Amino acid sequence: MQQSEQAPRMMRQRPPPRNVQVRAINRITPHMIRITVAGDELTGLTTHGTAEHIKIFLPQSGQDTVVMPTMGPNGPEMPTGIERPISRTYTPRKWNPATNELDIDFLIHGEGPAVAWVSKAKVGDKVVISSPSGPYNLDIAADWHLIAGDDTALPAIGTILEALPSGVKAYVFIEVIDAVEEQKLESKAELHITWLHRGKRPTGHILENAIREARLRMPTARPATWVACEANVMRSIRRHLINDRGIDRASLYTRGYWKIGESDHPDHDTGEDA
Ligand SMILES: Cc1cc2nc3c(=O)[nH]c(=O)nc-3n(C[C@H](O)[C@H](O)[C@H](O)COP(=O)(O)OP(=O)(O)OC[C@H]3O[C@@H](n4cnc5c(N)ncnc54)[C@H](O)[C@@H]3O)c2cc1C
Repeated sequence: MQQSEQAPRMMRQRPPPRNVQVRAINRITPHMIRITVAGDELTGLTTHGTAEHIKIFLPQSGQDTVVMPTMGPNGPEMPTGIERPISRTYTPRKWNPATNELDIDFLIHGEGPAVAWVSKAKVGDKVVISSPSGPYNLDIAADWHLIAGDDTALPAIGTILEALPSGVKAYVFIEVIDAVEEQKLESKAELHITWLHRGKRPTGHILENAIREARLRMPTARPATWVACEANVMRSIRRHLINDRGIDRASLYTRGYWKIGESDHPDHDTGEDA
């Protein structure tokens, strides 16, 4: 077939990035800062389900504002001499269409451009965000839910628990640094939450051990499982759930939210190689 006869290639249309301003900054726990962004360009923002993600575009060091690429004949182009903005993945924690405000919760984990930005953020600072995408579709027909993650997954877990209806049972394992990092989580569901305090131990180990040791009704019951944490730990937990617990891959949703030693880990690490 000649090139000209081929059907036009379907291009995925992404909504344009949205310019927003920091409206409020609240430290919800010592290591979790809630940034509320707002602005006219949030009008029409739509959420599609729980545990979605957005990209937040931050200025490069030495720049006051975010310069976004524009679409040229060969794809996105930056003005000469200007570096692409820093981009990181976060969870849209709470969207309020009445006030055009979006909450994003940032874990202060150590060092990284996002942590550096949020630690110095001021009301009025300008950033750019993408529209939410990649929702976790709740399986309401599941016999019960297993929901597990570390502190980076805490905002996403919050959105999942808020969406679970009454009459549903959820076993929730959340690893944070210490008891002060625990948050009050709302849900209509029957929650069995285990908070795990890592202290100075390596990340993810107590989360994995708690899941390995949990007394869960398997494999006769059909659970829906959501796990998000450090990428290597997620793979280990995933292998355990499939190989030792007999959980069907189709009912497993696993995500590496970050990876030790790697900057800007991809937002679509499902661990299916494990
Ligand atoms: C779908 C999705 C949703 C997410 N939602 C949130 C959210 O709502 N809130 C949130 O805080 N994070 C969230 N994350 C995780 C966040 O994107 C990463 O932690 C990111 O690396 C932070 O960027 P940074 O610039 O601070 O560090 P980077 O430049 O990416 O990394 C710098 C260094 O820090 C290390 N590092 C990164 N994260 C951690 C961590 N948690 N603990 C210890 N070391 C770390 C890296 O291994 C690297 O060595 C999400 C990730 C995904 C994929």
